[in-house]
Amino acid sequence: MYPKWPEITSLLLPGQNAIHRHDITARVFRQKLKSLISFITKSHVFGPTRCWMYSVEWQKRRLPHAHILVWFIDKIRPEEIDSIISAEIPDPSTDQLLFDIVTTNMIHGPCGTLNSSSPCMADGKCTKNFPKDFTNDTVTNVDGYPIYRRRNPENGGQSVLKISSNTDIDIDNRWVVPYSPC
Ligand SMILES: [Zn+2]
Repeated sequence: MYPKWPEITSLLLPGQNAIHRHDITARVFRQKLKSLISFITKSHVFGPTRCWMYSVEWQKRRLPHAHILVWFIDKIRPEEIDSIISAEIPDPSTDQLLFDIVTTNMIHGPCGTLNSSSPCMADGKCTKNFPKDFTNDTVTNVDGYPIYRRRNPENGGQSVLKISSNTDIDIDNRWVVPYSPC
């Protein structure tokens, strides 16, 4: 759920933001979710699907999100993962729009020594295990979860300057929340 979707912001009253209007966010979220599911299961953007399910969760006063599970008729092979999921900052010279979306919405924290009061922190550690390690290649077969490619700037990875608590910090691929460019 993205609180700045124009379908939401255009209906807010002065002084409101999305968390004040569950009536609007619930409806817009439902429409977007149905459209996403149809994109995956009818347009077959990742290949033909066998079945799918999802559950929607609401975090108290926060915004809704969905956990979606999709079975594909043809399994995704390890060498195909990088074309479907990325955990890297895109190159702005080839895709400025994706770069803007990822650097605005898909950067974790920052937390840890850069910001010890981040909500993900417990006992001095990030509960989501950020920052992740750099790695030049996606690795599978570790606990059933892939370790996504996160190239460091010396190996062609992108980085971006972000302002956090009034200081400029250099954000690199260790902080990217995995996403599908599609
Ligand atoms: Zn964190």
